[in-house]
Amino acid sequence: MLKAFAKTGVAAVLGWTGADRAVSSLAGTTRLPLVVGYHAVVEDVRAHVGRAIAPNLISVNMLERQLEWIGRRYRFMTLDDLGAQLERGDPFERPSAAVTFDDGYVGVYRHALPLLKRMGIPAGVFIVTELTGRSELQVYDKIYLLLEKALPLLGHSEMRLRQLVQTKNVSLGERHGSRRLDAFSTMRWLLNTQTQKGLRRVIEALETVSEVRDSDYPDLQVMDWEMVRTMEASGITIGSHTQTHALLTEESLERAANQAVGSMYTLRDRLQRPIRHFAYPDGRFNPAVVSAVARAGYRYGYGTCLRRDHRHPNLTIPRTLLWERSCIDARGRFSSSLMRCHAYRLTDLWAPCTHNHGDSATSAASQRSEARQRQHA
Ligand SMILES: [Zn+2]
Ligand SMILES: [Zn+2]
Repeated sequence: MLKAFAKTGVAAVLGWTGADRAVSSLAGTTRLPLVVGYHAVVEDVRAHVGRAIAPNLISVNMLERQLEWIGRRYRFMTLDDLGAQLERGDPFERPSAAVTFDDGYVGVYRHALPLLKRMGIPAGVFIVTELTGRSELQVYDKIYLLLEKALPLLGHSEMRLRQLVQTKNVSLGERHGSRRLDAFSTMRWLLNTQTQKGLRRVIEALETVSEVRDSDYPDLQVMDWEMVRTMEASGITIGSHTQTHALLTEESLERAANQAVGSMYTLRDRLQRPIRHFAYPDGRFNPAVVSAVARAGYRYGYGTCLRRDHRHPNLTIPRTLLWERSCIDARGRFSSSLMRCHAYRLTDLWAPCTHNHGDSATSAASQRSEARQRQHA
């Protein structure tokens, strides 16, 4: 709550003084278009408390509110037009914005598509190809939901969780933070220390103490191919978000490259058109991953922070992630000042990106996989 007040205070002061504009142009960010990123779109977020990762959700009403706000200040562009302009190096004379959705949740088809059509706003959707058309949950949704059920049974104890996953030969890395585990921070910790294969073993271990039936979470399902084709026919740009939503910096380089190439082939086959856009799962990239995405033939890539790879600036286009409560002040009301902070990317000041975008991330992942291979040898 204190943090919310501080955040609102900062936003209000910036709004009053116009200092936000000065800070933003100092940072050079106004020269870049604003690309916003959303995940699941639902009718009412209150129905999903404890049943979904909150920062992945937005209600269709709040989405409309945020898009209206952006539309009054920015010109919306398609991802293709935006990418082409970045490639040409033409300056963005007018503030420009693009809208994206990651993961291909079914609500983007059901709720966002009609809204975008009504408002005349173009958008891009990043698809996890091997999940599309299946009634399975995303790996991180599954882990989060299992943790919500399992952690109370484990007394929220780190030691007991370590013991549980040890039964599936998973050893968890170091962890900082409070002793009592909560589902969200534990999920982040697992994502930071495990490959996707490791995460699947964690799921198996959690399933020995709790159960999550995928069909109980219809709003967390992803689209089928018919929906993807309908979106595409409606003018939505379809891009890749890998085959299985593997966090590419945590995988071997070979697997990262396969994820980029394989998902492009599938999308090209299914949609019969070139696939140019790629969103890094969880915004995680490092130089080796960006090179793999470039080699796969993508022209435009999107992260979740301001960090760029100077060899491939168009493969590391910054994005601003938004969700239901991004722009809600301490009194629970929509705040134009907070929205402005996100649009000018000032939020990076109080919540800087914690990803490792350097080379060492790759070597950490490969060291881990080497160590595991030695273990299994
Ligand atoms: Zn994602
Ligand atoms: Zn980052």
